[in-house]
Amino acid sequence: MKTLPNMTLRDEAVDFIDDAFLESLLQAGPPDPGEFRELLAKGLSKEALSVKETAVLLRADDPELVEELFQAARDLKNRVYGNRIVLFAPLYIGNDCVNDCLYCAFRVSNSEAVRRTLRDEELYQQVEALQNVGHKRLILVFGEHPNYDAEFIARCVRSVYDIKIGRGEIRRVNINAAPLDHEGFRVVHEAGIGTYQIFQETYHRETYAKYHPRGTRKGDFLYRLDSLDRAMESGCDDVGLGALFGLYDWRFEVLGLVSHALHLQDRFRCGPHTISFPRLRPACGVNLDETHLVNDLDFKRVIATLRVAVPYTGLILTAREEPSLRRDVMAFGVSQIDAGSRIEIGGYTEVGDAQVMDREQFQLGDIRPLDVVVRELLTDGYVPSWCTACYRLGRTGEHFMEFAIPGFIKRYCTPNALTTLKEYLVDYASNETRAAGDARIRDELAKIPDGEMKSKLIERLNTIEQSDRRDLYV
Ligand code: SF4
Repeated sequence: MKTLPNMTLRDEAVDFIDDAFLESLLQAGPPDPGEFRELLAKGLSKEALSVKETAVLLRADDPELVEELFQAARDLKNRVYGNRIVLFAPLYIGNDCVNDCLYCAFRVSNSEAVRRTLRDEELYQQVEALQNVGHKRLILVFGEHPNYDAEFIARCVRSVYDIKIGRGEIRRVNINAAPLDHEGFRVVHEAGIGTYQIFQETYHRETYAKYHPRGTRKGDFLYRLDSLDRAMESGCDDVGLGALFGLYDWRFEVLGLVSHALHLQDRFRCGPHTISFPRLRPACGVNLDETHLVNDLDFKRVIATLRVAVPYTGLILTAREEPSLRRDVMAFGVSQIDAGSRIEIGGYTEVGDAQVMDREQFQLGDIRPLDVVVRELLTDGYVPSWCTACYRLGRTGEHFMEFAIPGFIKRYCTPNALTTLKEYLVDYASNETRAAGDARIRDELAKIPDGEMKSKLIERLNTIEQSDRRDLYV
């Protein structure tokens, strides 16, 4: 009989969230503008900020200082990530769950939710549909349930990698699922996952207890807080953090995320691979408490502050957000987005243009097709990327950080982004997107100094144009 891991909290677990300390940092009144600007300069020098320093940025409500924060975030984005935006798609595998999180349509007590788990042939059909529009990177999403144990998750990962449709394939499979024990994380790591994402949802204990009923597995704040340490100790060296903005004070959650990132950096000499900052959204059978909902201006401050505070961690903006907001905040430091997303179980082949709320965990803000989002990114001067090179060349965790810190990553990211873009344009793009993409590639090539790296890149681009060869990267 399938079971979930024993949840005994180990002695080594570190409780690095001090609620009173974090609250006190936020009570200290408006910062001195000079100190504020010094910290922006520190962030711009690509040095991570401390929790105390991050609080200084968060306490600045003066519109002039907020605009300076936005500009610093834009500059840092360009210096570390350039104009690349990495694309992925979520794939919900099953929504059975033993937990009862009050903000979630999949919670066990929500009788309105349509329960379902993809069968093997249905998983194949979803991956086929995703490959046929050009996706190369997926995140598989699972409720917390005995049926979704480590072996099941690992089997899904291997199945996804084995599916090859025409010139298509999925080259990186990330996971958003429940905390596992060391053995469980080893099992999924050996299946070849990319990032293991576990969101703490809220770092504020009292609020955590309010939304995650005692006695449910997710009701254990510390077991969850310790989970990514267990993942990294078990070989999953790319991990993803997240908080659900709207449950409590957004400033506190930013300090919680930065505390978590610094804790991992201290303990494993490697910060999180990504940070996500989803905002509460309407959901089937959920009565949202709107007390702490985050407005658009404050949401931009969340992203810009994280960009400056944790310069080397990828920031993920999801399709929870509306297209216009996504377009607006992209420049503040977002490095990854999902596109062409459907989160109904079976949603990539079974539902039309309208969302089916009783089959979704929450309502999406952006369900535009991938090709439309790609064209908008190209028009806005970005290079859409499906790159997976670092992950497949072992440039992950601490090794990724080594590359990122000296800034060498640009030497690899831009060429690899352009070859994955070329694949998309030749194999999947509409004519309008093809035209915009060819112009983007010309512009990007013009920025690269002549030399061996450039001529080799042009050779790879021509090979993709003139042959069936794919997956060319450095
Ligand atoms: S948020 Fe996750 S753990 Fe909580 S009820 Fe929803 S699916 Fe289950």
